[in-house]
Amino acid sequence: MAITRVWLDESEDECISCGLCSEVAPEVFEVPDKMIVIEGVDFSQYEEEIKEAVESCPTSVIKFETD
Ligand code: SF4
Repeated sequence: MAITRVWLDESEDECISCGLCSEVAPEVFEVPDKMIVIEGVDFSQYEEEIKEAVESCPTSVIKFETD
């Protein structure tokens, strides 16, 4: 069950640019304005950090998919 995709989903709520995700997982997330997922990241190397960021996000807009 490796993480294969991570994305910003604002269909129900919005990223408020708090920066928490990039503090928890700076290898995966950047918040220049709204959050972006850094291109080319091997998500399987940062599974714990990604899950922690998902749980920490105050507006629950970080989504991920596993294989
Ligand atoms: S933790 Fe959530 S709300 Fe905060 S910057 Fe990251 S995606 Fe946006």
